[in-house]
Amino acid sequence: MRSTPDVVVVGSANLDTTLRVPRVPVAGETLLATGSSSTPGGKGANQAVAAAVAGARVRFVGAVGQDRAGEVIKSILQQHGVDLSSLQLLGTAPTGTATVVVDDDGENLIVVDPGANAGLAPQHVHAALDGLEVPVLLCQLEVPLDTVRAAATHQAARCVVLNPAPMGSAEALAEVLPLVDVLVPNQSELAQLTGGGPAPITLEEVGDRVSRLTYAGAVVVTLGAQGAAVFPAAGAPPTHVPAPTVDAIDTSGAGDVFCGVLAHGLSQGEELEEATRRAVVLAARSTTFRGAQMPLAGRS
Ligand code: ATP
Repeated sequence: MRSTPDVVVVGSANLDTTLRVPRVPVAGETLLATGSSSTPGGKGANQAVAAAVAGARVRFVGAVGQDRAGEVIKSILQQHGVDLSSLQLLGTAPTGTATVVVDDDGENLIVVDPGANAGLAPQHVHAALDGLEVPVLLCQLEVPLDTVRAAATHQAARCVVLNPAPMGSAEALAEVLPLVDVLVPNQSELAQLTGGGPAPITLEEVGDRVSRLTYAGAVVVTLGAQGAAVFPAAGAPPTHVPAPTVDAIDTSGAGDVFCGVLAHGLSQGEELEEATRRAVVLAARSTTFRGAQMPLAGRS
């Protein structure tokens, strides 16, 4: 049964393969891996899982292929209670995947095949959202920009949250930004959005970059181990929300956990700063587990 969601996530889902190697190979070389693992990923699916673990009723609007990887992704999202009634099973492309080759020093090489994610189209978004009223719509940039635009412009969304990752062209994004209520970049995405150069480190540098954005909505900049900076509106003073000190063993996907938890808080009527406080804590906690998706044990 389709219940009304608190959060609709429009985004990617992947099944990634990690190959552990003694060293990263050079072009033309064949190497034997010392081990391999298969892990669910894709920013959309990661954020949907995080929002669900935080307590939201989540609907995921995404696309997978009609293959085993698609079945694995479906089963993981279902285990987290994510509504998959708007998940597209495309016969035209395989499920998206990233192949990660990593050596003992953490040096890596990553090749991403978007696969079915590239087939998520504006009409899929319309089919999912028409007739709905959604407290929060959460998007990233691993599906076509036209699809993100269709989601952000849809009447269904009371609040549009955009995690501009991975940042492609800042120019292309410029037409989507006016549709966004809360923008959630990390430090390097903020740099890319504001003319490039080194990622801002200090709060002052972050504030300076935010003031250069041609965007009037709220901004929450994630700062890794430093937590996050909340800019509730253009010109308003920021608040720094520090992260708790944790024994981080794997920070991949921490930004996705942050976005999912933030979206849940906003869907429950929390103020941006309040929602950020919980997002910072759960994202920090997620770095103490391996993998990009938040385990059910991470529920607070
Ligand atoms: P990723 O791309 O790995 O998903 P990101 O670059 O998008 O991450 P970050 O700014 O690195 O996002 O981190 C997001 C949030 O995760 C931070 O706001 C913080 O709450 C938490 N976090 C990340 N790294 C750490 C850490 N080392 N210690 C504590 N909290 C952390």
